[in-house]
Amino acid sequence: MNGYGGQILRVNLATGKITKEPTPPDLVRDFIGGRGFGAYFLFKEVPTNADPLGPANKLIISSGPLSGLMIPGAGKCDFTTKSPLTGGYASASMGGHFTAEIKYAGLDSIILEGISPKPVYLFIDDDKVELRDAADLWGKGTIAVEKHFKEKLGEEFQVAVIGPGGENGVSYACINHDFGRQAGRGGVGTVMGVKKVKAVVVHGTKSIPVADMEAYRKAGMALYKACKDAEGLKDWTRYGTTIVTSWCDEVGALPTRNFSAGSFEGGKGLYGQTMREKIVITDKGCFGCPSPCGKYSRSKKYNIHVEGPEYETIGLMGSNLGIDDIEAVAMANLLCDDLGIDTISTGNAIGWAMECYEKGILTKKDTDGLELKFGNIEATFKLIEKIARREGLGALLAEGIKRASKKIGQGSEKFAIHVKGMEQSAYATHNATAMLLAYMTCDVGAHHNRSWAITYDLQVGRDKVVPEKVARVIWLQNFRPMFDVLGGCRLQWVELGIDRDLYCPALEAITGVQRSWEDLEKVGARIWNLTRMYWGRENEGFGRQWDMPSPRFYEEAPKTGATKGQITRFEDVNKLLDMYYEQRGWTSDGIPTAATLEQLGLAKLVA
Ligand code: SF4
Repeated sequence: MNGYGGQILRVNLATGKITKEPTPPDLVRDFIGGRGFGAYFLFKEVPTNADPLGPANKLIISSGPLSGLMIPGAGKCDFTTKSPLTGGYASASMGGHFTAEIKYAGLDSIILEGISPKPVYLFIDDDKVELRDAADLWGKGTIAVEKHFKEKLGEEFQVAVIGPGGENGVSYACINHDFGRQAGRGGVGTVMGVKKVKAVVVHGTKSIPVADMEAYRKAGMALYKACKDAEGLKDWTRYGTTIVTSWCDEVGALPTRNFSAGSFEGGKGLYGQTMREKIVITDKGCFGCPSPCGKYSRSKKYNIHVEGPEYETIGLMGSNLGIDDIEAVAMANLLCDDLGIDTISTGNAIGWAMECYEKGILTKKDTDGLELKFGNIEATFKLIEKIARREGLGALLAEGIKRASKKIGQGSEKFAIHVKGMEQSAYATHNATAMLLAYMTCDVGAHHNRSWAITYDLQVGRDKVVPEKVARVIWLQNFRPMFDVLGGCRLQWVELGIDRDLYCPALEAITGVQRSWEDLEKVGARIWNLTRMYWGRENEGFGRQWDMPSPRFYEEAPKTGATKGQITRFEDVNKLLDMYYEQRGWTSDGIPTAATLEQLGLAKLVA
């Protein structure tokens, strides 16, 4: 099948049985690849009400039709599972070089099923697929384990690995790769950990069939040329995602002290410019990327090297904790990476705990003696370790802030910043209604990458609650995640502004199937609605209440910064949802109607 590895690999960890099956053509037609494959397999194969940490849950690793080909940033890999953090759909995208090797091994998806009786790693070298003993690697950090495999098997093997966080069941454990890339959100590493899979290592040498080689070469070259000629290439490559830190601080979107404000008095210490001057030593990119956003850094103060920190980590581990030292953020980043826990959820958990401490809800007795005040760098480092090892207060925070705040109570639920149990990524949304709606309705919880709508808020008026804003959020939700379906990176379109239509001839040349962006957005809407049905199927009473944001954004106006005194009105929160559900073709409680499902070709699948 042109553009595809052609096979799905299934690994039953309980029995050790390994099988392959051809990639179904109707799956390719309706869901294309990557995140689409993940959503389909999750809905179809994981039984209703499966325990996310039980044997019936699956971890689905998928490439897309662009993966491994010479298209800018075609190194994105999707990890889908039932989330142990939220109890709903989880899909996390990881850059690097892993997905290319999956394709070269002749695979499109790897489905991990059941639970292994002992620690193992999955070894794939073209057609040689084996489960191998990983007892001696269990308990080790991700960096040492990746290095071990590179030395033992060779640089050509690509490694996806979990750390102690995943082994110990931290609800937001991540999967690491390439010494600094992660599938970060929703606990995909937790599921890999409970399955006792320390790592997946893969190498392949097969060719990916392409429908029209000459047209592929031309379309690929056109995409690379557009990137090379883009005005923003120089600055984007110099700063990567940290380019937005100063802007967020300026407009009041930089999470500060557990999202109580959106501007930070110590913000300058964290800006991309400061970071570049102080700690960045070189740039690092994913497979086939002409605009490497990864920053490889060195902190002299802590005597470490780390990939990052990128913006989300700076926001959550810096300003959100009242920390203004970029070297301390780099150190926190390295600890999380090595221990295998998501920096976004971890930064939220520690920010919430710091606020509890400052309000007297948690005391030194609860923190094992840690002075858990905002700005305390050493306490932050210690708490990261405690979370990953589930020690003391760390065991509570490892559950995620929805469950932790429910347990602690005393009003702490009101400043637990999450949607559907997923901690919010690094945009404060006190007065940014499109971005707030994007978080409220995101398919995995409060994550920004499906619909990064905050610039639109500033463009049309940040407190405006109008149908155009809702339409924009929906369009972005249907369109942007399609890059995770195709196995490519969206940032060349987002940050360099290259013409998205350039992708269509490339996709056609590779697969032999003509698809316009209109066709692709319809697939995006199909996946969005399928995952919404999944949330409803797995959670009794699922509906509007699940889409509510933290009260912090409609009850408490920031006392300082660019959004001082500004807030979203509660009635506007509901108005946003009313408009959103209507435009999506959902009921007033947020459930896709039969007509919508029929129109998207989902009626049979969800019946
Ligand atoms: Fe990877 Fe960044 Fe390049 Fe995207 S822009 S492919 S995330 S290095």
